[in-house]
Amino acid sequence: MMESKANMGSEVHVIVFPYPIQGHINPMLQFSKQLASRGLNVTLATTSSFSSKFHDLKSSSITIETISDGSTEAATPGTVEEYMKKFDVVAPKSLTQLVEHKIGIGHNVRCLVYDSGIPWALDIAKKFDIQGASFFTQSCLVSLIFYQVHQGILSIPVEGPEICVPGMTFDARDVPSFVRRVGLHPSLEKLVINQFSNCGDANWRFFNTFDGLESKVVDWMASQWAVKTIGPCIPSMYLDKRLEDDKDYGLSLFKAQTDACIQWLDARESASVVYISMGSLASLGGEQMVEIAKGLEKSNKFFLWVVRALEESKLPLNFKEKTSNKGLIVNWCPQLEVLAHSALGCFVTHCGWNSTLEAVSLGVPMVAFPQWTDQPTNAKCIVDFWRTGVRVKVDDQGFLNSDELEFSIREVMEGERAKEIRSNATKWKQLTKEAMEEGGSSDRNIEEFIAKLLSYS
Ligand code: UDP
Repeated sequence: MMESKANMGSEVHVIVFPYPIQGHINPMLQFSKQLASRGLNVTLATTSSFSSKFHDLKSSSITIETISDGSTEAATPGTVEEYMKKFDVVAPKSLTQLVEHKIGIGHNVRCLVYDSGIPWALDIAKKFDIQGASFFTQSCLVSLIFYQVHQGILSIPVEGPEICVPGMTFDARDVPSFVRRVGLHPSLEKLVINQFSNCGDANWRFFNTFDGLESKVVDWMASQWAVKTIGPCIPSMYLDKRLEDDKDYGLSLFKAQTDACIQWLDARESASVVYISMGSLASLGGEQMVEIAKGLEKSNKFFLWVVRALEESKLPLNFKEKTSNKGLIVNWCPQLEVLAHSALGCFVTHCGWNSTLEAVSLGVPMVAFPQWTDQPTNAKCIVDFWRTGVRVKVDDQGFLNSDELEFSIREVMEGERAKEIRSNATKWKQLTKEAMEEGGSSDRNIEEFIAKLLSYS
């Protein structure tokens, strides 16, 4: 096992274990940096399926260890079922070995911070008599919905027209896809509900959100067990700027075309560009890609479109060349740098929780085009609770037509509604900063965790 830092001795050590997919690694890596910057020794365990691909970690404040999860390829929606079966057999053994090894060489390991989707990690923490902290990478609201299902209060598949959870009512289209259409991804469905199988026994429950963003839900969750909001977990340069040089997450499955994106954005006017990305996993059908291409052309706006390499063949023939005076298409971009750029006018997003939090933190208006998992619920928050964007209208099959895309882009970039959305987005940007700044709600929660960890023996 690689030992890349001289971190022996009595310093307090924390091991962090995210589910090895981009949207889970990013926030847990960021949380690790926060702990390291406050003097803890942190090892982040990634797995063989992810680390065979990743681009080097730029920060040296934490140690990265690779453990086996039985695969050498990252999971995709098509392979996830098979991947997860292997993960559950292999990863418990390799995580146990890692903890054992760290303790064996004299590290003062006091806590295992594990992804809430890996509840068996708590058994490992207990075996070694160290603290266990469950880290939720989804919103508190989504957690609440899954918790209600776990408790048998909501029965699945949930059926409309209205779904009630404490203090709120939703349309059926707003709940996570796994509780609405059951049986399509059995292992993932089990995973999201099992997050609650033993989380009451963990020493800590961390949520990547902040109190002000989901206050009612956080209060309700706090009535069940102690919860700590510690987000948004995004690089410090975009928030409180307390972590030097912390400009990007640092561990990525894909290589970002940074220079091309930033140079192209630099040449555009303020608030003039539509940025569109569906994140690291979602895959659109060929017809849908063609329709989006049409919608972007009809809007007549400049656009920066992230189309992952494996999706590229779905673009209309010669589209790249035909629209090169209006658009830039890349396989992956430095999303935070893009969202923070003054040329950005709006973000057409699948509403993954990280992308959502990033756009909220940077004050970017959103056009929500949710695909699956928790994304519909995040879209509901964007449109109805924070009022920082609109949701595209889709047909019964979830298909988005080019006119609707054009309409939604105009709605967030032109006219009165656009002004209101921009002003709400600016308000949330400020509140996000305040939560992470010294003395802010998330900062206090991180400090409390560290103080308790240091005093516990
Ligand atoms: N991301 C990026 N470049 C891209 C697209 C996405 O760096 O071109 C990052 C983005 O900043 C976010 C993560 O990938 O942190 C995607 O996470 P999210 O929860 O939004 O979606 P998922 O990929 O899990 O569906």
